Amino acid sequence: MKRITIAIDGYSSCGKSTMAKDLAKEIGYVYVDSGAMYRAVTLFAMREGLIRDGKIDEEALRKRLGDINISFKFNPTTQRPDTYLNGELVEEEIRSLPISSNVSPVAALPFVRKAMVEQQKKLGREGGIVMDGRDIGTTVFPNAELKIFVTASDEVRAQRRFDELKAKGDSCDFGEILRNVRERDYIDTHREASPLRKAADAVELDNSEMSIAEQKEWLLSQVKMRTGSL
Ligand code: C5P
Repeated sequence: MKRITIAIDGYSSCGKSTMAKDLAKEIGYVYVDSGAMYRAVTLFAMREGLIRDGKIDEEALRKRLGDINISFKFNPTTQRPDTYLNGELVEEEIRSLPISSNVSPVAALPFVRKAMVEQQKKLGREGGIVMDGRDIGTTVFPNAELKIFVTASDEVRAQRRFDELKAKGDSCDFGEILRNVRERDYIDTHREASPLRKAADAVELDNSEMSIAEQKEWLLSQVKMRTGSL
C-alpha cells in the first residue's frame, strides 16, 4: 500500500495534534507535531533569558540556534511521541500558557522558520508521515498527497484548551486563553514568512460540532480516497 504524506494545518487549539496523532497511530504512520518544535525553541529562548517581557533578542537567538536540538521519542504509556529539548523531556512544559503566549512571535522569525522547516522536510523524506502545523501543506510538504485545513470557532477552541489545561491541574482563566487563541491566529495569519493559510488543494474540515469519532471516520475516508485502501 502506498505510504503517503499527510499535512494537517489550521488555527490554534482546533484539535489538529490530537487528530493527527490518532490518525498516525491508526494507520501506522510517523507523527510529527511541528508546533512542538516552535514551542521548544521558545522554551529554550525563555530559559536563556533571550525573551524578556515579550521582547525577543533576535540576534542572540540567531547565534544560539545551533545549540537547540529537538527530538521526539515515542511514549508507550501515552502512545504518543514526547518532545525533548537537548535530551530533556519537555512535553508538559512546552504546553504551558507562558510558552503559548510567546511562541507565535518566535515562530514568525524567518531564521527560526528556515531551521525548523529544514528539519521537518528531513523527517518526512520517506513518506508515511502525518505532520500538523500552520504551513505544512503550503511550505513544508507542498506536494503532500493529502492536505487538511482545520477550523473551529474561536470560543470552541479556547474552551478545548481551557479544559485541557484544567484537566492537567493548571490554574487558568478562560478570557486569557481566548485572548491568546485570537492573538496567535492574528500573528500566524499576518506574518511575512509562510503565514497560515489554506493551501489551494487542501480539504477543509470545520470540527466545531463534530465528535472525535465522527472526525476520525471522516479522516480515514480521506486517507482511503488517496491510497485506495488502508
Ligand atoms: O500547534 P501549536 O499551537 O502547538 O503551535 C504553537 C505555535 O507555533 C503556533 O501558534 C504558531 O505560531 C507556531 N507554528 C508555526 N508553524 C507551524 C506550527 C506551529 O508557526 N508549522
